[in-house]
Amino acid sequence: MRKYTDENKTKLEKIVCNKCGRQLKVENGIVKEGCFGADTVFGYFSEKDGVRQMFDLCEKCYDEMIKEFTVPIDETEEKELC
Ligand SMILES: [Zn+2]
Repeated sequence: MRKYTDENKTKLEKIVCNKCGRQLKVENGIVKEGCFGADTVFGYFSEKDGVRQMFDLCEKCYDEMIKEFTVPIDETEEKELC
């Protein structure tokens, strides 16, 4: 869950992990720790026609989630980090 200081959502105020409820470290609008942000819109062929859902997970909760996957995730090494 993300909270912004303004209506246009330009400056991030805080992020709370939707699973464990812990507040992640945010400084000057920048996340200072591992965070998984999901933002998806379900289309016509889904059961959630046009519904947008968003959530955030801390790195620990993300790791717990992917551990339960039957098929392992794809992983590559990125040279440039944002
Ligand atoms: Zn968490």
